[in-house]
Amino acid sequence: MRYPTSDVCGAPADYLWMDPVAAVERKAKRDAWAASHKNGVDGFVAFQEMMELPMPVLWSWLCRDHGKESGYEISVDQIDTLPKAMEMTFHVLKKTWADRWAWEHAMRDMHFDNGDFR
Ligand SMILES: [Zn+2]
Repeated sequence: MRYPTSDVCGAPADYLWMDPVAAVERKAKRDAWAASHKNGVDGFVAFQEMMELPMPVLWSWLCRDHGKESGYEISVDQIDTLPKAMEMTFHVLKKTWADRWAWEHAMRDMHFDNGDFR
């Protein structure tokens, strides 16, 4: 059983945090990148071009002592069981700014044991 810890101090995390403004900006850059790479030879994209694809904005695990002034927050107790995490997954992925890879990356930090990770 593993409990997510604060990315800042290592204390047990109280919530997941995302900067939706940065996520929206990244999505616009990603969409522009995708639009300019539609006509590659047989869909081939060169390594250098792939490196220009902006990386998804990652979620951060934070404790209350190292909270942010603004942003999108999900309390750990909203996602501490598999059913809750599944429900939140459907909720988050409806956001226009949500990135599936970034969400999966965050969810992989949790290890569910018999439906609970605490
Ligand atoms: Zn902290």
